[in-house]
Amino acid sequence: MTRFDAYHRPINYLRISVTDRCNLRCIYCMPPEGVPSRAHDEILRYEEIEIIARAAAGLGIHKVRLTGGEPLARLGIADLVRALARIPGIDDLSMTTNGVLLARYADELVAAGLQRVNVSLDTLRPARFAAITRRGRLADVLLGIEAARRAGLEPIKINTVVIRGINDDEVIDLARKTMDDGWNLRFIEWMPERTLALEGVDWCEQTVAASEVRAQIEAALGTLEPAKLSAGAGPARYYRLPGAKGTIGFITPISEHFCGECNRLRLTADGQLRLCLLSDQEIDLRTPLRQGASVEQISALLLEAIARKPQRHHLDERQDVEKRTMAQIGG
Ligand code: SAM
Ligand code: SF4
Repeated sequence: MTRFDAYHRPINYLRISVTDRCNLRCIYCMPPEGVPSRAHDEILRYEEIEIIARAAAGLGIHKVRLTGGEPLARLGIADLVRALARIPGIDDLSMTTNGVLLARYADELVAAGLQRVNVSLDTLRPARFAAITRRGRLADVLLGIEAARRAGLEPIKINTVVIRGINDDEVIDLARKTMDDGWNLRFIEWMPERTLALEGVDWCEQTVAASEVRAQIEAALGTLEPAKLSAGAGPARYYRLPGAKGTIGFITPISEHFCGECNRLRLTADGQLRLCLLSDQEIDLRTPLRQGASVEQISALLLEAIARKPQRHHLDERQDVEKRTMAQIGG
């Protein structure tokens, strides 16, 4: 039975960060040296994640997404997928990945029960890709997307964070991919993190509103018509260019927050339940789990989290999230 929070929002979605480590160092997400490594025993074991997912499913949470850090960088990730796919009540199991290792794992993930992937990709230019990610190869991600498509992990959504002076000049080239290659693309407004201020860049002025991206696309490629995605629409608003097979979505945490429709809880890799991406309130699940808590006791903590979920974030009032970077929460 679906549970509702204090603001009448159905809470049916759990995002699970399985690691805060990553094989890339995107300039807007991680410091060049990566995040300080947590001791191995601080990170939830797969059996512990499974208990939390069982408790969540019992409360009507039927959508689960694995994220990170980079989920494919955690050893044996397909084993976790297999365990989660078997939980009664979870009918939508997906992953957000940078795609670098996707070509290697796509078939194994499908066999384990993964249904869909979102791949993060901010540029179509190899040199720029290397600069943004500080170490990645664009070709690996493109191969990963192709492998995911062949394996049936669809619809694949491509997530692009737009940052002024970094990749805002590529919006039209990226939008063309919805026509030429049927991509389902989502432009995400960058949520500035002061701790990661880009060198030589005024973070207040680097965000690009979705309305600006949309205007650029329409001026070059035609009017966007409202569209629907067959699965996993999330907080994006979707459109289609004339004649395009793929869609263009906009995710607007800054210019038009979608807190009124927020349906999710987030679990960090070290076992803290976050009530909102952009608020530091957390409920510790790791300690009770390691003291032997049952699925029922974890359910009670999930219910507490649902009851305490804040109404909205306050990023527009320059409230900072200080405790963790995006890579530690999972985006
Ligand atoms: N490593 C995986 C990936 O890159 O897809 C999963 C984790 S990553 C933190 C999840 C998403 O958060 C990515 O699409 C990334 O672009 C996005 N992200 C990271 N930092 C962000 C920020 N400051 N503002 C907006 N999106 C951000
Ligand atoms: Fe890693 Fe994803 Fe953050 Fe890039 S956005 S550094 S791939 S966690």
